[in-house]
Amino acid sequence: MVQFTPVENIPGIVQELKKNFDEGITKDLIFRKQQLQKLIQFFDENTKEIEEALYKDLHKPSIESITAEVAPVVDECKYMIKNLERLTKPTHTKKRFGLNASDKTYIRKEPKGVALIIGAWNYPIHLLLLPVVGAIAAGNCAVIKPSEVAEATNELVAKALPKYLDPRAYTIVNAGVTGTTALLEEKFDHIFYTGNGAVGRIVMSAAAKHLTPVTLELGGKSPAIVCDSADIKLTARRLLWGKFYNNGQTCVAPDYVLISQENHDDLIKAFQTTVKEFFGENPQESQSYGRIVNHRQFDRLQRILESTEGNKIVVGGQTDRENLFISPTIVSPVKGDDPNLMQDEIFGPILPVVVVKDLNEAVNIINSKDKPLAMYIFAGKSEHYNFIMDKTNSGGTLVNDTLMHLQEMSLPFGGVGPSGMGSYHGDKSFDTFTHERSTMIKSTSLESANQARYPPYTDSKKQL
Ligand code: NAD
Repeated sequence: MVQFTPVENIPGIVQELKKNFDEGITKDLIFRKQQLQKLIQFFDENTKEIEEALYKDLHKPSIESITAEVAPVVDECKYMIKNLERLTKPTHTKKRFGLNASDKTYIRKEPKGVALIIGAWNYPIHLLLLPVVGAIAAGNCAVIKPSEVAEATNELVAKALPKYLDPRAYTIVNAGVTGTTALLEEKFDHIFYTGNGAVGRIVMSAAAKHLTPVTLELGGKSPAIVCDSADIKLTARRLLWGKFYNNGQTCVAPDYVLISQENHDDLIKAFQTTVKEFFGENPQESQSYGRIVNHRQFDRLQRILESTEGNKIVVGGQTDRENLFISPTIVSPVKGDDPNLMQDEIFGPILPVVVVKDLNEAVNIINSKDKPLAMYIFAGKSEHYNFIMDKTNSGGTLVNDTLMHLQEMSLPFGGVGPSGMGSYHGDKSFDTFTHERSTMIKSTSLESANQARYPPYTDSKKQL
C-alpha cells in the first residue's frame, strides 16, 4: 500500500509550488510542451503496468483500460501540444467605447497559479491525469491527489509519475480524508475535484474560505429514455454497453430506464439476448466483465439488490462477495419513486426499468430528481428527443447511444446543479485553468480628446 504524505509536509509542498510558480517556470511554452511530452512518455513506458494496476483494482478489461484511461489522456496531451500557440495567444476585442478608439484591448491567457486536482477511484488514471493535462497546458503548477480507494493504481502513479513530471511544478500528494482535509485548508488558485456530491460540498466550503474557484465533476442519476420511435435492438446493445462498462461504476452510466408499456417486453427480451451476447452464459467467467472496487461498495450494492423485493429481477441477480462479483442485473418493472432503486445513484451493474405511460410522465420523473450529469434518449424521431430536451436539463445529452459523448473531446464535459459545476475536455480544459486577464493599453496621444472626461464637468461633456 502506498505511504500517505505526512500531513505536516503539506503546507511546505504548497508553498514550494507557489514559489516556483512565481518564478515563472511553468509559463514558458517550451516547458509546458516538454511536460506534456513527458506525460505521453509515462504512458508509453508504463502501459502494461497501468493495465495490471487497473485489473487489480477493478478487474478492468484491457480494452477498457486502453480506450477509457490511457488513450484519452495521451490524445489530450497531443492536442494541447499541437494547439498551444493558438490557445495561449492573446485575443483582441472589438472596441465599443468611442474614447478608446485608438487604444489596444486584448485578453491575455494567463495561468491561474497552483491548482489542486483531486481524482476519483472509478477511472483512477483518466480522472486524475486528464485535468492535469489542462493545468500543464495552461501553465499552472499542480498538487495531484489520486484516489486512495484505487490502491494499486495510486501506488503506481505515486511511484512512476514523479520520474516524468518536473517536481518543481507538479507534486503528488497521497492522502485519504485526513490528508485531503489538510490540503483543502491551503490556499490554491483553482481546485478541480471529481467524486461524489457530499464531498463536493466539503470541497466547495473549504474553497469558499479562500474564494478559490472550483470545478466540481460530480455524479447523479443519469436517465435513459427509450421512446416509441427507438430501434429496440440497437438501443439494448448501446444502453447495456454503457451500463456495464467498468461494471456500472461510471459517473455517466445510464442509471435507470424509462419506457412505455408497449415496448417494455421487447426491450427486456433484447436486454436478455444482449447480456448473453456480451458476457456469455456465465458472466463471472467473462474476460470482458469487471468487478466492484471493494467490499464497502459491494455491500452497498448487495443491500440495493436485497431491497428489490416486490420488483422482478429479469436478468442476473447473482453475487459472489469474495470475488466482488455482481452479475449484470436488470430489475423491471420498478416504480419511478422506488425508495431503494430510484433515489440515490446506483453506481454498479444494476439497472432498474420504469414503465411510463408517455413522454410527459418520463419528463416528470426526471424533473422530480436532481439535474443529471448525462441524459440518454433513444428515439428515431427528432420531435421525440427535442421534446425531452426542451422540457428537461442535464450536464450533457446523447441521443441513440451512451458514454460516447465523453470520448468526443470537442464537447465540454461537466454537470449542472447537483451533478457538477464547470467543465473540461479539449479547449475547455485549457480555459478552466486559465485566467482571462482583460488588458488595455491606452494611447498617450490625442490628449485633447480626453479633455471631454476631465473636470470641470460642464453640460456639453454630458454627451460623451
Ligand atoms: P472517491 O472515494 O475516490 O473520492 C473522490 C476523492 O475525494 C478522493 O480523492 C478522496 O480521497 C476524496 N475524499 C473522500 N472523502 C473526502 C473528505 N471527507 N474530504 C476531502 N476529500 C475526500 O470517489 P467517490 O466519491 O466514491 O466517486 C464516486 C462518485 O463520483 C459518484 O457519485 C460518481 O458519479 C462521481 N464521479 C463523477 C465523475 C465526473 O467526471 N463527473 C467521474 C467519476 C465519478
